[in-house]
Amino acid sequence: MTRTSQAETGSTDVVVVGAGFAGLYMHHRLRAMGLMAVGIEAAGDVGGTWWWNRYPGARCDIRSLDYSYSFDADLEQEWNWSEKYATQPEILSYVNHVSDRFDLRRDIRFETRMTSARWSDSANEWTVETDHGDQWTARFLVMAVGALSAAKEPEIDDIASFNGSIVHTAKWPHEGVNFADKLVAVIGTGSSGIQSIPLIAQQARHLTVFQRTPNFAVPAQNGPLDPEMVASLKQRYREHRAEQRVSHGGVVSPSPEQSAHEVAPDERTMRFDAIWEEGMLFGFLGSFNDVMIDPSANAIVSDYLRDRIRSIVSDPATAELLCPTSYPVGAKRLCLDTGYFETFNRPNVSLVDLRSTPITRLIPNGIETTESLHEFDVIVFATGFDAMTGPLLAPEIIGKDGETLRDAWSAGPRTYLGLTSHGFPNMFMITAPGSPSVMTNMLVSIEQHVDWSSEVIAWMAEHGVQQIEPDLEAQDAWVDHVNEIANFTLFPKGNSWYLGANVPGKPRVFMPYIAGVGPYREICDGVASDNYRGFTFQ
Ligand code: FAD
Ligand code: NAP
Repeated sequence: MTRTSQAETGSTDVVVVGAGFAGLYMHHRLRAMGLMAVGIEAAGDVGGTWWWNRYPGARCDIRSLDYSYSFDADLEQEWNWSEKYATQPEILSYVNHVSDRFDLRRDIRFETRMTSARWSDSANEWTVETDHGDQWTARFLVMAVGALSAAKEPEIDDIASFNGSIVHTAKWPHEGVNFADKLVAVIGTGSSGIQSIPLIAQQARHLTVFQRTPNFAVPAQNGPLDPEMVASLKQRYREHRAEQRVSHGGVVSPSPEQSAHEVAPDERTMRFDAIWEEGMLFGFLGSFNDVMIDPSANAIVSDYLRDRIRSIVSDPATAELLCPTSYPVGAKRLCLDTGYFETFNRPNVSLVDLRSTPITRLIPNGIETTESLHEFDVIVFATGFDAMTGPLLAPEIIGKDGETLRDAWSAGPRTYLGLTSHGFPNMFMITAPGSPSVMTNMLVSIEQHVDWSSEVIAWMAEHGVQQIEPDLEAQDAWVDHVNEIANFTLFPKGNSWYLGANVPGKPRVFMPYIAGVGPYREICDGVASDNYRGFTFQ
């Protein structure tokens, strides 16, 4: 959808930035409330993550039947997923279907990036500007900009000197990339690398994987959905969705009652084998109640997963390089794979360990490491995102006292409930730092945030209130609480993007709230029913 319209100016009730799952649902809610909204989206169409990340192998790692909207009972009945874990094209066609069905594109300006927003306390409104020169005033600003939408380039010298093609998994060319008969490099072995490497290897003449930190990965055991299972789930979909909402991670799974140490080694292995065969992302982390709390319980799971890698990868030296040893399993986001470790048994695939031979720079025909020169036609950066804060801090957001969000968050993000920030009235951030967000099935977290924010807006209209802002004390207490819960666990014990550790110079703060979506929802609902405790209204 190429934008052809001239710069626009005008006034509306709400500006919604982002047209992924979060922004789209926000439009739907606002329209039902009779409010006007203007949507601003940098991409050419709806879909967010699923519009941008088109690399081979991209698919969800939460079951498709769970990774979908629950707000409309007819929608969930009529849509049919073909596989346990849907591909990016299938998820994008679902988003397109939802957008058509609810006519959601109408208010959105595509290929348009929000560049700044400034709050006026006297006018009680935001002025939002875009890279097309648009200027919108609005009572409310909703930042539905995604937690994983600001692609991170690698810190490598002389990138521009490379004469071949460079592609980033998070900005994949829509026309695709032809790897046939090419010498290909993939830099990065997080979820994006792990999903794309097996498929690129099938096409390339030779694929070299550049790995800085190995990751734990569990097989997806993907496949077509059993129609009988789908029919029976659809019969109780409403109940299932209700269970998701009060669950820990936004998926329905049993709560472990035993410590890993209470169970005999043979029985533990049987339990792990069953989880491996089932192919569920967080099964291992929830296999016992102390896996993410007690380092020795965590080591039992890590040992099992490392043994699995050794049993798959034929070359023992390569297998050892692929075994993570520098952090507890789960402290970096676990990956779901299809044939990842098996790929290293192919004759056309090799692995470069960047811990022993770091990249020094790109050269016209390839990559130089401290040890050798590697020639390539195509280099794939699977180097992730400036997660959670990146998309919120890219535009200049200027709050009440002229302070920018960048300055307010210079030592790390500060939010109340992961939804609002002191000094920035009438601004809601969907799945922001301080909320469960990326630790969960994001669809559950997104719907909860959109519902909560739109209910506040409705409450304000009902009570004749113009302005809402979280109190500094409430925000400080929330930030302390988020940190306290995180520090009780092993989650902050890896150099992960959860902590901002993947971006040089980024404050090292564990960003998600990990008490679980059910308990978190209760807190948010409690705040609302207590007349929005912790907020000041005008
Ligand atoms: P996004 O989908 O990221 O959409 C945000 C939009 O905002 C983007 O389109 C962006 O262009 C736009 N935007 C940002 N800044 C601006 C600006 N200044 N101006 C204009 N537009 C702007 N989560 C799961 O729960 N399960 C999964 O299986 C899963 N798989 C994933 C796979 C990949 C490859 C990635 C990258 C993430 C995955 N996630 C998954 C997380 C995923 O991001 C969320 O599930 C969900 O799609 C986020 O929706 P969103 O609307 O919040 O954000
Ligand atoms: P990521 O997990 O941050 O992985 C980035 C990889 O690039 C890491 O291996 C990192 O190494 C490496 N890297 C970064 N900069 C580098 C540099 N300068 N030199 C060498 N290596 C470098 O990013 P991602 O794979 O895009 O995934 C991000 C998140 O998106 C996931 O955790 C997940 O939440 C979501 N996602 C989900 C799926 C899915 O399966 N549905 C797919 C893709 C993404 P270090 O680890 O050493 O930093």
